Amino acid sequence: MKKNYLMTPGPTPVPPEVLLEMARPLIHHRTPQYQEILKKVNEGLKKVFKTKYDVMTFTSSGTGAMEASVVNLLSPGDKAVVVRGGKFGERFGEIMTSYGMEVIPIDVTWGKPVDPKSIKAALDKNKDAKAVYTTLCETSTGTMNDIRAVGEVVKNYDAALVVDAVSGLGADDLDTDAWGVDVALSGSQKGLMLPPGLAFISFSDKAWKLVEKSKAPKFYFDVKKYKKSLEKTDTPFTSAITLFIGLERSLAIILAEGMGAVLARHRKLADATRRAMQALGLELYSSSPSDAVTAVHVPAGIDGGALVKTARDTYGVTMAGGQAELKGKIFRIAHLGFMENFDVIVAVSCVEIVLKGMGFKIELGKGVRAAEEALLK
Ligand code: PMP
Repeated sequence: MKKNYLMTPGPTPVPPEVLLEMARPLIHHRTPQYQEILKKVNEGLKKVFKTKYDVMTFTSSGTGAMEASVVNLLSPGDKAVVVRGGKFGERFGEIMTSYGMEVIPIDVTWGKPVDPKSIKAALDKNKDAKAVYTTLCETSTGTMNDIRAVGEVVKNYDAALVVDAVSGLGADDLDTDAWGVDVALSGSQKGLMLPPGLAFISFSDKAWKLVEKSKAPKFYFDVKKYKKSLEKTDTPFTSAITLFIGLERSLAIILAEGMGAVLARHRKLADATRRAMQALGLELYSSSPSDAVTAVHVPAGIDGGALVKTARDTYGVTMAGGQAELKGKIFRIAHLGFMENFDVIVAVSCVEIVLKGMGFKIELGKGVRAAEEALLK
């Protein structure tokens, strides 16, 4: 027998009551019954996004919302500032290049947060930049950017601020409207505790002005279609009915706990994970660690790929390895979504057991103890 524990920064575990809700017989999406669900989901999403603006939903993974943020705000030839501090920041640039936009890159050392002053400098130099694209939690490095400080800078310019909160939403705070975030986007398979398949995006008034001017080609991701449908509590295309039904339930769970409590829980789990790793003599990868995921340096002499593989194949604990240039160099433990104290204990204990088995000098229980002490605080 083997029990599996999903501890990756997406997909994340789905609560049993959400799974059961999604197992019910299908209903049709153009019915009053479904409209009730749409209404609740749209209201719930606004609360989680902390925005008064509509949050639109696509049937796609998170990258669909990233693409939508590019093709709806910009036109070919337009300039946009892109913070590149990891794989997902880079993806914004790749999307823009494929649509013929000009990327003004801000290359940030991986594992470090963006310095808002560098954004100010880029905007001062490129007054015609239409938008600034950045990431709340750069999942590939486990780094959280200070979006509030970035918003303070960008609000003084014409450029709109776009934030990829695919993995950060519900773990790292995002006060969309209060912080001047014009476009916030996310996906279903992370803090929202659902399977993959939905992507979300909100637009401020400043962003809608850019939408009116955008000449980039688009059809499925044309946000005007979604806005028009939303006004009639409808969706422009066949809705991902099952996922919406699950979302209604997962939003109810989140909002019953309260956004403040949800964020505090993530902070506590993240803190316990970080303390545990440090107690084991391991080094955190990020200087600004996210509360969604903890990235840890693979210690010298240990095969990082084998560490993650052994945890998964021998012990049933699926963590994430490093991506791109970090392959084999870090491992990542998520504490995101449907997670609580004992999930952290499982992950920490597994790291101890695997490292011990690989010959790393470790005192069993030292990390677990540090985590327990942090969780009891
Ligand atoms: N941005 C971030 C920060 C992410 O973590 C991810 C997924 N790991 C994405 C974008 C892309 O989302 P998806 O894989 O759902 O397309």
